Amino acid sequence: MSSCCLCDNRQLAKQLQHMTFCQSSDKGYVRCEVMITVHVCDTCGMQTVEEGTDKIMDEAFVREYRNKARLPRQKSAHRVR
Ligand SMILES: [Zn+2]
Repeated sequence: MSSCCLCDNRQLAKQLQHMTFCQSSDKGYVRCEVMITVHVCDTCGMQTVEEGTDKIMDEAFVREYRNKARLPRQKSAHRVR
């Protein structure tokens, strides 16, 4: 469990947050929506995103970029449950 980088408090509450961001690409700006986990310090209010959030954002961008560019989906992207 990580602690707050400002006040060293270890009481961090996990919050699921909806985030929208835009990233530029050769097809113009791509709008992405993701759900990310944020650790919020209950003492000073410092918010820290969970490790791996970059990857979640990258994946969301690739997904939206493919939609925008109308590229055929790769077979490897299909996962059979
Ligand atoms: Zn804090």
